[in-house]
Amino acid sequence: TKAQNRGRFSFFSDEMNSQAQERLALEGALRDALRGGDFELHYQPQVNFHTGLLHGVEALARWHHDQLGQVSPARFIPIAEECGLIGELGKWALEEACFQLHDWRRRGIDVPSVSVNLSSTNFHDLELPQFIAGLLQRFDLAPGDLTLEITETVMMDTNPSTTRTIREVHAQGVKLAMDDFGTGYSSLGYLRNLPVCELKLDQSFVRDMDRDQTVLALTNAVIRIGESLDLIVVAEGVEDKRQYDLLKQQGCDVAQGYLFSRPMLAGIFEHWLKNFKID
Ligand code: C2E
Ligand code: CA
Ligand code: CA
Ligand code: CA
Repeated sequence: TKAQNRGRFSFFSDEMNSQAQERLALEGALRDALRGGDFELHYQPQVNFHTGLLHGVEALARWHHDQLGQVSPARFIPIAEECGLIGELGKWALEEACFQLHDWRRRGIDVPSVSVNLSSTNFHDLELPQFIAGLLQRFDLAPGDLTLEITETVMMDTNPSTTRTIREVHAQGVKLAMDDFGTGYSSLGYLRNLPVCELKLDQSFVRDMDRDQTVLALTNAVIRIGESLDLIVVAEGVEDKRQYDLLKQQGCDVAQGYLFSRPMLAGIFEHWLKNFKID
């Protein structure tokens, strides 16, 4: 198909801007990569502030392209959405993450849960709940071992399948986390309507809270909301000890960020976990 993709370019005039060409090339390469297994999941640990123990891991997709090198998800996820590959990518990530958790358990490595990122389009698929149920059974996992991270775009999605799929998945016992909380549109109304059990405080709050009193106050407000709704608040992008201490002081539940580790391959994570101790 690489030859085919190259052929396709001849249909476009020289005036077609290089950005569009690059995009088209990426789209073709993305399709090949999904079929050819060139994607990987990297895992980033999440640490419980109260116990100092591992809360779980977030699975993040990685794509290494022969010529382009590492392509960031910020670049390939939107393309996958637009060219109809996001459904496949989402299912691949779910399967890979469930397999990995199963494999860790089988080898006595204690990972409490795995979180997978899904796009709003993934919830248009009415068979998603069944697909997930199949994976849980196949890999001998409890529904609560899996968390689906969704963003506010999922919450705002007016497609009728979306709410239905979310409710079904939740009814199975799979957990939902609201990603990037505090950015975009106000999500308080969505919290009322959707069965979320985790709030992920967006990393922009964590980044700016120690130099901006307003951001610090907002961070605190999010943590208080989580507390009163009995939700687990996960702070994203925790890079240093000072941020960690500030969040801990405020009663945040879980920290995730470079302070502990960047997302890493399963094997490297296992090594990390062996040496992990929090002081
Ligand atoms: P996200 O879900 O908010 O993921 C957190 C991002 O922050 C990740 O970027 C992670 O590597 C990065 N990060 C973690 N700790 C730190 C830190 O301490 N400092 C800073 N500066 N960054 C940190 P990544 O892996 O590049 O992913 C970007 C976004 O792409 C994700 O944001 C998510 O929205 C999307 N994404 C990644 N994998 C998938 C996937 O499998 N499916 C879907 N639908 N989206 C994905
Ligand atoms: Ca996420
Ligand atoms: Ca996030
Ligand atoms: Ca709490």
